[in-house]
Amino acid sequence: MSRFKISDHYNGKQFYNLTPTHNESLYTVLKWKLTSKRIKWPHWIEDEAIPLSPITADDKSVCTWVGHACFLIQLKGMNILTDPVYAKRASPVQFAGPKRVRAAGIPFESLPKIDLVLVSHNHYDHLDLATLKKLHEKDAPHFIVALGDKKLLVDNGISSVQEMDWWEETNFKETKIHFLPSQHWSARGLHDKCHSLWGGHMISQGDHKIYFGGDSGYSDHFLQIKNKIGTPDISLIPIGAYEPRWFMKDLHMNPDDAVKAHLDLGSKKSLAMHYGTFQLTDEAIDDPLKDLSLALEKYGVSDSDFMSLKHGGSFHFKA
Ligand code: ZN
Ligand code: ZN
Repeated sequence: MSRFKISDHYNGKQFYNLTPTHNESLYTVLKWKLTSKRIKWPHWIEDEAIPLSPITADDKSVCTWVGHACFLIQLKGMNILTDPVYAKRASPVQFAGPKRVRAAGIPFESLPKIDLVLVSHNHYDHLDLATLKKLHEKDAPHFIVALGDKKLLVDNGISSVQEMDWWEETNFKETKIHFLPSQHWSARGLHDKCHSLWGGHMISQGDHKIYFGGDSGYSDHFLQIKNKIGTPDISLIPIGAYEPRWFMKDLHMNPDDAVKAHLDLGSKKSLAMHYGTFQLTDEAIDDPLKDLSLALEKYGVSDSDFMSLKHGGSFHFKA
């Protein structure tokens, strides 16, 4: 018996993308590692601390970039964290693997009370069990994870966990959450490839919509999301971890793809993420922002519509 309902993205054993993507075999990983022209990132960057900017009466929301794929989203009456990772390394072990090169934009102790945590998929740069457990101890928030990831959290003592399939929706307080397709994959070890799902979320409070894109390659799912769920006011879109293209293209967007996603979604504003914190791939630390400004110029999009925040910086969406 299969663990989940068979669907257009689950065959009874593994999940897969709506558009076929290349298979990340041991051979291709080795080929990448052997031919890689990795540009070394700085060892550490000391950012100026920015005090947390609270939500005010004339804001619909405030999005603050904690770093990588983690945003604090302050809405009316509730706070959400996306893919919170406070670990020193995005890795199964803390002595090896991609190390963070800057502190989190909001220190853990300075986080406000968290009501809801959204986790897009189980990669270590998105699902950090130590951080999730600390959040559970601090505020006992509700956790929404991708189909197949609930057991991992429950086995680690986290009680309020809900897993969702693509296009499902759920209500939390005054807010509606949709779990939506992305083009990616999952694995935490050698033997669990695509055993759990991946995706993004739409957070709706009244007519205000915020889209969190998770990790994704470019495909027509952005158009599908706009057509089925509606146009976001704000989209949080990954722009980093994209070189070399022959290997990363299907699974991680580059800034050019990210601007196309912004246009497909019809997003009013977009905020860049998934760059500048952990070196996962070959590009230099400042390439994503350089390439983003070229892409914005190419597609005629203003940098006040697709923005990049400083770590700890906030964007207020006014009512
Ligand atoms: Zn990932
Ligand atoms: Zn990632």
